Amino acid sequence: MTISLNETHDPARRSFVDSANAPGCEFPIQNLPFGVFRPAAGEPPRVGVAIGDQILDVAAAAPSFNGPAAAAAKTCAAPALNRLMALGPEAASALRLALSRALSVEHGDESLRRHLVPMAQAEIVLPVAIGDFTDFYASVFHATNVGRMLRPESPLMPNYKYVPVAYHGRASSVRVSGTPIKRPQGQRKRAEDAAPSYGPSRNLDFELELGLYIGAPSELGDTIPVGTAAEHIFGFCLLNDWSARDVQGWEYQPLGPFLGKNFATTVSPWVVMREALAPFRVPAFARPQGDPAPLPYLDDAADQAQGGLAVTLEAYLASEKMRRAGIAPLRLTQTSFANVYWTVAQMVAHHASNGCNLLTGDLIGSGTVSGPEKTSLGSLLELTARGREPIALPGGQQRAFIEDGDEIIFRGFAEKPGYPRIGFGECRAVILPAG
Ligand code: MN
Repeated sequence: MTISLNETHDPARRSFVDSANAPGCEFPIQNLPFGVFRPAAGEPPRVGVAIGDQILDVAAAAPSFNGPAAAAAKTCAAPALNRLMALGPEAASALRLALSRALSVEHGDESLRRHLVPMAQAEIVLPVAIGDFTDFYASVFHATNVGRMLRPESPLMPNYKYVPVAYHGRASSVRVSGTPIKRPQGQRKRAEDAAPSYGPSRNLDFELELGLYIGAPSELGDTIPVGTAAEHIFGFCLLNDWSARDVQGWEYQPLGPFLGKNFATTVSPWVVMREALAPFRVPAFARPQGDPAPLPYLDDAADQAQGGLAVTLEAYLASEKMRRAGIAPLRLTQTSFANVYWTVAQMVAHHASNGCNLLTGDLIGSGTVSGPEKTSLGSLLELTARGREPIALPGGQQRAFIEDGDEIIFRGFAEKPGYPRIGFGECRAVILPAG
């Protein structure tokens, strides 16, 4: 199913939920991201859709819909998005269309007001039962920056421009935005240390990433053509691949990330449908002259023409002292997902290219989305040159890596003239002391 622009993208459509029409609103009627929420403490979680500062209980609205949209809405009486995601892109699209009409001024069903819950009073939980988590390494700028620290003579490994490389992460430690994260402990060894010691990580970092969830699954042994790979993507979120750089640096050879990464991953609560981002598709990353063309199984004309996504990603830091003093979080970086070397379709196609089955609810991270400029780097490792160039915080502190009490906040949005801004909401967490 090729996504084309339709009435759900109409910039002129407005909602009878007034807050959704405010300029710059994260969740206008053109967005309609899905999440899971409890309307009040103690009530069972259910699927909702964000509209302005409200959440619509989707299953409660099902009687207002017909056909495939009604069937899709009924799967939303559940504590996770998986049943809806498993139905595939046609069903999700039918539900999106029905929700867009029902919440609009022109065709709206104002009786749905009784199924709206103010976002501020709801408890928003992890939206998906995540079976597996894989994290890619799709920014050539990030790969080159990190490679330069480790191998100044040959920063980029020779496979990089052929293989969308990734590692298998840990699904059990994925947490929703707002959940505090305990500083990990592990083996770490400084250059001046004769031997490693075990203790709290001294070099805790974030990685600013886009995440995607698999909707329609694939069978073990089957491959996924790159031309249809995007159809397996239900939607996108913000993802923080927390990284203990000292633990990672000591343990990663020869098998790659393990305990330096798997202690926690934070995701934003709202899943922005692939269809909502259709107006913000851009050409795939322009490979510099001399780079190899993708191998045929990763090469598709339509994907090259519009497989990129112009999503802006930002990371902010607020120390405990800043928060107590009422100082706004400091923006550390602003980057664009259009900077990544591989498209999301190429990541999905490559993941299944050996017959590995992708299942509904699998989470795939893009890898750190660093851009080419100093102001568009997606980790402190890069922003502070491995800690050698600390960042000055308002209020007099400075940071090489993340300290206890720091809050890291990601924001993301897609915008272009003539279209309402599609927001991702926030992905935030405070770091607690180890132990
Ligand atoms: Mn990562």
